[in-house]
Amino acid sequence: MNIRLALAGNPNCGKTTMFNDLTGSSQYVGNWPGVTVEKKEGKLKGNKGVIITDLPGVYSLSPYTLEEVVTRKYLLQETPNAIINLVDGTNLERNLYLTTQLLELGLPVVLALNMMDLVRRNGDQINNSKLSEVLGCQVVETSALKGEGSMAAAKAAMELAKSNSPMTPVHHFSESVETTLAEIAEIVKTSVPVNQLRWYSIKLFERDKEVLESFNFDEATKIQLEDIITKLENLMDDDSESIIVNERYEYISKVIKKCLQKKTTGATTSDKIDRVVTNRWLALPIFAAIMFMVYYVSISSIGSVVTDWTNDVLFGEYIQGGASALLEQANAAEWLQGLVVDGIIGGVGAVLGFVPQMFILFFFLSILEDCGYMARVAFIMDRIFRKFGLSGKSFIPLLIGSGCGVPGIMATKTIENEKDRRMTIMTTTFIPCGAKLPVIALIGGAIFPHITWLAPAMYFMGVLAVVFSGIVLKKTRMFAGDPAPFVMELPQYHLPAAKGVLIHMWERGRSFIIKAGTIIFLACAAIWFLSSFGFSEGGFGMVAQEESILAVIGMAIAPIFAPLGFGEWRATVATISGLVAKENVVGTFGVLLGLGADIAEDDSGLLSQIASMFPYGAAAVSFLVFNLLCAPCFAAIGAIRREMNNAKWTWFAIIYQSLFAYVVALIIHQLGGLLFGGVTFGIGTIVALVLLIGMLFLLLRPAPQDKLKAKAAHLTT
Ligand code: GDP
Ligand code: MG
Repeated sequence: MNIRLALAGNPNCGKTTMFNDLTGSSQYVGNWPGVTVEKKEGKLKGNKGVIITDLPGVYSLSPYTLEEVVTRKYLLQETPNAIINLVDGTNLERNLYLTTQLLELGLPVVLALNMMDLVRRNGDQINNSKLSEVLGCQVVETSALKGEGSMAAAKAAMELAKSNSPMTPVHHFSESVETTLAEIAEIVKTSVPVNQLRWYSIKLFERDKEVLESFNFDEATKIQLEDIITKLENLMDDDSESIIVNERYEYISKVIKKCLQKKTTGATTSDKIDRVVTNRWLALPIFAAIMFMVYYVSISSIGSVVTDWTNDVLFGEYIQGGASALLEQANAAEWLQGLVVDGIIGGVGAVLGFVPQMFILFFFLSILEDCGYMARVAFIMDRIFRKFGLSGKSFIPLLIGSGCGVPGIMATKTIENEKDRRMTIMTTTFIPCGAKLPVIALIGGAIFPHITWLAPAMYFMGVLAVVFSGIVLKKTRMFAGDPAPFVMELPQYHLPAAKGVLIHMWERGRSFIIKAGTIIFLACAAIWFLSSFGFSEGGFGMVAQEESILAVIGMAIAPIFAPLGFGEWRATVATISGLVAKENVVGTFGVLLGLGADIAEDDSGLLSQIASMFPYGAAAVSFLVFNLLCAPCFAAIGAIRREMNNAKWTWFAIIYQSLFAYVVALIIHQLGGLLFGGVTFGIGTIVALVLLIGMLFLLLRPAPQDKLKAKAAHLTT
């Protein structure tokens, strides 16, 4: 028989960290709430018969959010043999609220008092034998991050699970409430397991909709129940749910008074840092400066040196040169040489060349996340977003999306407001993900080798695209409404653990290497084939690139992009292949233009070739911007489809993104080209101006619902 242990606790209290510690797996540990929406299972290290479940973080067991529903369902219906309740020791008061509810479920509970390292550092003292006594459950001190105590907590839970002794809650509500609960228990005692009777009585008293429905009471019982509840409500002059909430808090404050001694020497280091970092005026400049540094260092400075070497020397010279010589020697057919050397090594090599840069970026992002800074960003953004009727909750998916859009889109699950959720799904992929990074680095290296702020600028352009879309969409009837409330505990800052950061970086970067060996590999082979074969006088066969099938298709589509400045067939093909995976933009160029070393005298290198393809800056920026903002890759589109759960909305999202990208790229190309050279005044200029004015209008116009409100106010006065 397996023993099943569940990890339950508030968001961000360390459940996933402990889960990883106990099971040896490496699930995503995010320093913000809502990362674990689905429950995850794993086997206890060295004890295969014990299954650990990592549940989504919740503040309470009410049925209002998706996380609450998932957690509650699991605890009630799949009844684990014991619960390990993780409690953030630096925030006892808030965390114990959930604990009081877990203790009512009738399951054995062990309280893991986590974050003990921080508690000690803050100088607080928790009397845990007292805590154990007043709560009526075992307490184990842990520090999941440092790997201390996790196993002891698991062992304690296993013992409890084996002994199979029922928990008797020590906490009692006030006498009148207990009397009422007993009356309710009398009604339902035959229909629920005896150990869950207390829980169900309380929930029925609170008029919990789901629980009420699950009983299928007849009318008479419903009335009887309602009578019992209202009788007490009238007596206590409060609604039943509030009565319970208040009494829980009263109880918790008694517990705290008995067990916790806070060191009251003013602000903690965390508070001091936050005073600066989340300061009304400094917050945004600091965020901008940090992100600037991150993108600058990983893409423009250290990163580009590494990539130059991998691209030019490693892939261009050694691997491509070596393979070419080898195949020559083996007398391989011309097509095979072409496929291997130009198609696969050229394309995949061009993409792999940028992998070091991705890893450096992910390394920095992991540090920012692990130390607790990213959680602040969501908090800062909430303050700004709220002014436009948006919720900071919408920013969390975007932060996750800077690694990969797919988990970013999935993270929108936690947004309860359906309209806000849809809007967030639509805008998440504007943030440049890891796969778009090679595109930025390639264009930057080829056309703007001296402009070091290009990569940071592209990140901020993504952020602006999100904010712009948010404001504009929010003003339409489809998305109008008040922003969802956003409550978020800011975790204390802590030095990121090296192991955590490296695992995190690897987890994010790994998928890009796998992709290079699979999707990108196949796509490059396909691009090579299509660009090497075609119909000529002699029938179907190998032809010059300009006469290939791909060129014919590309040239047919290219005029669409001419107003954007890249009506060149190869750029068009690259853009379209980017739908499969964004790295393909680079892979396609690698195949079509050849890798070649840029140190070569004859300008045969990839960068020089790209430079000649975009004769002036505005065209290159327009190409870059279009590729960053337009419809994301198939994987992300799939995620959009799943989260929207609706074909129409999925199409709406893709069309909106592509149209938005087209308009922005057109404005950049036409007006930028006019100002900085490359484009002359003409129809295009006028169209761009009209579009620009149109966008400004959409941005600045008063929201129609505000107009209605103003009208209503006018009428009533
Ligand atoms: P979950 O939301 O409950 O799954 O929490 P996570 O496991 O994702 O952890 C949230 C954050 O708290 C991460 O940054 C962890 O590194 C950090 N953390 C977890 N346990 C501890 C601990 O014992 N001490 C400290 N200082 N940090 C911890
Ligand atoms: Mg988690």
